Amino acid sequence: MSEPTAGSGLPPDLTLEVIAEPAAMQERSAELRRSGRRIAFVPTMGALHEGHLSLLKKAREHGDFVVLSVFVNPLQFGKNEDLGRYPRTLIADLRGAQRAGCELAFVPTSDAIYPPGFSTKVEVSGVSEGLCGARRPGHFVGVATVVLKLLNLVAPHAILLGEKDYQQLQVIRRMCRDLNVATTVVGCPLIRDSDGIALSSRNAYLSAAERAQALVLSRALFAARDAHAQGLRSAGPLVEIASRILAAEPALRLDYLELRDADTLAEVTGELDAAAVLLVAGYIGSTRLLDNVILPA
Ligand code: AMP
Repeated sequence: MSEPTAGSGLPPDLTLEVIAEPAAMQERSAELRRSGRRIAFVPTMGALHEGHLSLLKKAREHGDFVVLSVFVNPLQFGKNEDLGRYPRTLIADLRGAQRAGCELAFVPTSDAIYPPGFSTKVEVSGVSEGLCGARRPGHFVGVATVVLKLLNLVAPHAILLGEKDYQQLQVIRRMCRDLNVATTVVGCPLIRDSDGIALSSRNAYLSAAERAQALVLSRALFAARDAHAQGLRSAGPLVEIASRILAAEPALRLDYLELRDADTLAEVTGELDAAAVLLVAGYIGSTRLLDNVILPA
C-alpha cells in the first residue's frame, strides 16, 4: 500500500494542522516554544482506537498544544512481520485526533525519516533485552531510533506512551534518562474493550473466532491479578495460575509469559516485595498480541 501524503486533499472538516516535512515540524515546534506553548506529544503508528485517544486526552493535562504523529516505522518491523499489511486509516485517524483535542498531526513519509545515507541507530541495553526484545531482534533499536528522531523534531515538553507496550515504555524512559532528553515521559494506563481484550490496532486482523480465542490473554492475567489482590505473593504460583489458563487455549501460540519488576523489568522470583508486571505475548493465528497487568506493591 502506498504511504499517505499529508497536507493536500484533506477533507474540509479537518481543521487540525497536518505537517509531513520533518524540517517544517521542527520549525513549527520552535515557533510554538518561542510563543510559550507547552507541547504534549503522542507518537503512534495510526489506526487509532480508544487506547490512542486516551493518550491524546491525557496529553491535555501535560501541555496546551497536543501533537500526534502517525508513522508506521519500518525500522521496528522484522523481515517477516506485518509492515506491509499494517492497517492504514489516516483520514479517520485525523478525525479522531481532532475530536480528542489534538492541534497538530505530524505524518512524515519513510523516505523523509530515513533519507538515503541514514546510518545511526539507538540501542538501549538492559530493559530492551528479553521479552519482546528477544522475540523481535532489532525491534527496540527501531523504536528507540524513531522515537529519538521524533523527539528531536517535535521537541515536546512531555511524551505520552501507553503501558500497553510496557517494555517499550521502559525502553523510552531509559533512553530519555540516559541521553538527557528534556522531555517528561508519561506512562498511561492500558485501555481495554468491555470484554477485557487489550485494545490494539492489530486486533483488526482477528476474525470473530480468533477474537474470542484472544480473550484468553486477559483472562489469564486477570486470574493472576485476582490471586495477587487476595494476598498471593509468590512468583511461581502467580505465573502458574496464568500459565494454566493459557495452556487450555489450543489456538494460542505463546511467545512468553513472564513476571518482571515493574520499574527495572528484572526477573522476579520468590516472594514479591515491590510492584511487578505480568507480561504475555503470543500469536492467535498470524496475529501477535501483547497484554500485561500490573501487580501493585
Ligand atoms: P502504536 O500505534 O501501537 O504504536 O501505539 C502508539 C501508542 O499508543 C503507544 O504508546 C502505545 O503503548 C499506546 N497504546 C496502544 N494501545 C493502547 C491501549 N490499549 N491502551 C493504552 N495505550 C495504548
